[in-house]
Amino acid sequence: MSLHGSAPSRPDAGTKAAETKARPLAALMDLVRLLLRSQAPGLRWRLSVALTLTFAGKGLELAAPFLLGRAVNSLSAGASGAVQVSMTFAALAIGFAFTRFVAAVAPQARDSIFTPVAQAAQNRAAQETFAHALALSIDFHQTKRTGALSRVIDRGARSIDFLVRSLIFTLAPTAVALIMSAAVLAKVYDWRFAATAIVTVVVYVVATFTISDWRIGHRRALNDADSEAAGRAVDALLNYETVKAFGAETRAVEGYSQALGVYGAAQIKATSSLNLLNTVQSGVMNLGLAVMVLLAGLEAAHGHIKVADIMVTYLILLNLYAPLNILGFAYREIRQSFIDLEAMLELQRQVPEVAEAAQPVDLPPKGDGRGGEIVFDHVSFRHGARSEGINDVGFRAAPGSTVAFVGPSGAGKTTLARLALRLIDPQEGRVLLDGVDLKQVRVSALRRAVALVPQDVALFNDTLAVNIAFGRPEASEAEIWAAVEAAELGEFVRNLPEGMQTKVGERGLKLSGGERQRVGLARALLADPRVLILDEATSALDSRTEAAIQTTLRKARQGRTTLVVAHRLSTVADADEILVIRRGKLVERGDHASLLAAGGEYAALWRRQIKEAPLAAE
Ligand code: ADP
Ligand code: MG
Repeated sequence: MSLHGSAPSRPDAGTKAAETKARPLAALMDLVRLLLRSQAPGLRWRLSVALTLTFAGKGLELAAPFLLGRAVNSLSAGASGAVQVSMTFAALAIGFAFTRFVAAVAPQARDSIFTPVAQAAQNRAAQETFAHALALSIDFHQTKRTGALSRVIDRGARSIDFLVRSLIFTLAPTAVALIMSAAVLAKVYDWRFAATAIVTVVVYVVATFTISDWRIGHRRALNDADSEAAGRAVDALLNYETVKAFGAETRAVEGYSQALGVYGAAQIKATSSLNLLNTVQSGVMNLGLAVMVLLAGLEAAHGHIKVADIMVTYLILLNLYAPLNILGFAYREIRQSFIDLEAMLELQRQVPEVAEAAQPVDLPPKGDGRGGEIVFDHVSFRHGARSEGINDVGFRAAPGSTVAFVGPSGAGKTTLARLALRLIDPQEGRVLLDGVDLKQVRVSALRRAVALVPQDVALFNDTLAVNIAFGRPEASEAEIWAAVEAAELGEFVRNLPEGMQTKVGERGLKLSGGERQRVGLARALLADPRVLILDEATSALDSRTEAAIQTTLRKARQGRTTLVVAHRLSTVADADEILVIRRGKLVERGDHASLLAAGGEYAALWRRQIKEAPLAAE
């Protein structure tokens, strides 16, 4: 699907069908592997009992018509003693009904026994894919539509349950039932009965598959239209603020309704071709029945078989037909499920760009409590095919020091912060933390050692307490409050009617930008990292709150190394080193005084900011 990033072209039914046909075996193996990996309790016995029940059910189903046949025969044969005849008939008829009942109950029992396995396999696959999706790089997530991604996981996981049920418990037993029925028909009657059953079913299956193949193009178009409509709706709903701000509601609705229109047209095509399929199926089935009954009638007329046997053959054929009723649907869904499963596995096969090293290294112990040492060693990085990016940046942040990045928007400051966090890996050069290349550091250890307050703090749709404790879930209430106070958030929280239990809304949108930033700060402080990265962490605050927070930050910087990206130069004037970045390059470096004295880019920026906001830059 669109996971490959290729533009969705109009599906050409021929090539698409070939593409999915080419790998059902591989997909089947994937399915079996997923099942075996599911670690479901009692996987083995559940699977064997389920299969036994399925085939036993089929066997009983085949036996039932003969019981009824005998019952009817006993009526016509029994000339002596009406009581005994009706007793025999009643016993056989009840036996017939009971056999059918047991045959019908078997699949139900099987379902109860097997459901835990299917559930476990489904959950495990969803869980693995989800974990994998989270491990994928930031680039992947910025390109992907979140709604579409969660659907891939959802559909993929659900396809497992469906595939197991339909392949192992419906299609395979039906094939076995056909062979058994044919054998029995040939043995009890003659080969023509067996041939009729086989030919009818084969013609039925071939016709169904052919028409379904042709319909798959329609289904695919329908699915694409469905994803498109859902994607558009989710996108607009997520960005409702932007939509509203630009009065683009009508445009959003138009886009959505266009997508719905495409969906509607695809739906009509899909439905009418389904009707055609059902008509053809009905034709084949009833033709088969007619041939069977005629054959049996002729045989009975010649006295080769009894009249009741007409009914027996008829019932056997009906039994064979019963599961075929859903064959068109099952075939289509099975193919669709394979496609969904493949989409999910494709996602699982995407190699995370930032992966755990083969032999991950733990960081050296914290040492003297002065924080970590960050070194950028000739680091270059480019996003995808962009021509510009970070270009040969090198610096060393000594333990406990503060290094600031300043520069115009788009210069690459956030990118540098992401490199230091190893959200991305440099294409050239190395980033080292306490002397270890970040690529070698155990990712979990790295995440504990480095905390970020991003430019745009996004929160989970949960309470303040949960969002803050996210930095260190095992933190005590007192520690959380200490972090809250340190982030100048205490008064705000105390004034909330529900305090720490206040829900922050989706992505934290019920808080102001400044409040969100302070929650982000509290979260990072709670994590107590050896390296703290502040990416314009106070840009959304007014200058008074910012000044208050600066005091806190100065305190927070003690005992750890800090990388600060700052918009307001006044907030980094006390940094040990200031790096001026422009278009991904390091153009100036030094402390505040020396940079001012140099009279270069930094000095010009500083003078401009003093003029604009003399208070903030005091
Ligand atoms: P800033 O200095 O404002 O923080 P950034 O580091 O965010 O700048 O961005 C530097 C450049 O990289 C910008 O030109 C931006 O458009 C580009 N960029 C950022 N993220 C991506 C991405 N995921 N894919 C492509 N380009 C990106
Ligand atoms: Mg930025």
